[in-house]
Amino acid sequence: MMIEQVRKEFPLLTETVNGNPLIYLDNAATTQKPIMVLDAIDAYYKTYNSNVHRGVHSLSMKATEAMENTRELVRSFLNAKRTQEIIFTSGTTAAINLVAYSYGRKVLQPGDEVLLSGLEHHSNIVPWQMICEEKGATIRIIPFNEKGELVLSELKHLITDKTKIVAVNHISNSLGTINDIKTIIEKAHQVDAKVLIDGAQAVAHLPVDVQALDCDFYCFSGHKLYGPTGVGILYGKEEILDAMPPFFGGGEMISCVTFEKTTYNELPFKFEAGTPNIVGNIALGTAIQFLNSYSWDDIIMHEEKLLEYLTVELLTIDELKIYGTADHKTSVVSFLVGDTHPYDVGVLLDKLGIAVRTGQHCTEPLMDHFGIPGTVRASLSIYNNKEDVDALISGLKKTLPMLL
Ligand code: PMP
Repeated sequence: MMIEQVRKEFPLLTETVNGNPLIYLDNAATTQKPIMVLDAIDAYYKTYNSNVHRGVHSLSMKATEAMENTRELVRSFLNAKRTQEIIFTSGTTAAINLVAYSYGRKVLQPGDEVLLSGLEHHSNIVPWQMICEEKGATIRIIPFNEKGELVLSELKHLITDKTKIVAVNHISNSLGTINDIKTIIEKAHQVDAKVLIDGAQAVAHLPVDVQALDCDFYCFSGHKLYGPTGVGILYGKEEILDAMPPFFGGGEMISCVTFEKTTYNELPFKFEAGTPNIVGNIALGTAIQFLNSYSWDDIIMHEEKLLEYLTVELLTIDELKIYGTADHKTSVVSFLVGDTHPYDVGVLLDKLGIAVRTGQHCTEPLMDHFGIPGTVRASLSIYNNKEDVDALISGLKKTLPMLL
């Protein structure tokens, strides 16, 4: 894989910020978009903007075909059995809420338990808290060790007959830990609990095979996968989705409506009320085609090498501490230097055109565990190179003396 060629696909990478060439290291928050994704958005609005599924006219049929083509691309990307199992949502957050409010509301009883991990994003905590409060169920937490790895030996105490749902991330957005979700799924299934995997941070960094994993739900956002914002996917096993009640009511999701009774459409439309984000869904398909044009071996090798280089170089800085040193990790390095505040570091780096994330990264319980206000997070993607890392390191060496 020629990184310089890859970089040419991303127009935004040639921008300057505060008079300096942009160094974009905030990919865990959102990735930049390749030209082909931008062109797909442009082409839709310029040549076939139209509503989907309802029209018999040519534009509507073209838009429907393009959007349904994405569904097939996602099916194949996740290796799901059928396109009926692929639901368009507005993102990971919406997908988790859908499962909490449809599946969770249906199955949870007082005394039941929902098992999360200590590494979860607020999106995979708060919807469960809300539904557990409504249903009288309880949240339990898989702990993690000082390296940021889940302590799976605790599962024997945590997964019991009371456990109805397990919801964990595939990769931690704050620490980069790749969780052993296969083991979690196997253990959960021993007590017939269903497992939702939050794949927001995973899909751009490693291949996902939902059949091999045997997860019940898997969700991700388009914008962390070189696609647009406002689109995401919920995968669910067909028999589970079939038995779930709809979450949103409205057009598209119905079969027959009278004032006395409404019957619902079949999968996947039962969960897709209203006009979807047509252009976003189409462009998500283009983003997947972009990713499919590279081999996973090349992507993983590139990102692993760069992660190692970044880690080694950061550790040359005095008083720098990395949070998250799991044996299995990818693309994210969270750190603090001495007693500097992450916001101050982030603001000074920005003056040099370097974009990193600072703060709690929507994982407040995780930060509380470490007793820190947040971290500086540098996160990598397919288009980052050694020069980006060098710029970050020299930026830090320049700015830190002002703060320490
Ligand atoms: N889960 C994880 C692990 C994430 O990193 C994020 C985004 N930071 C989300 C969920 C939420 O994704 P979105 O905001 O796109 O819905």
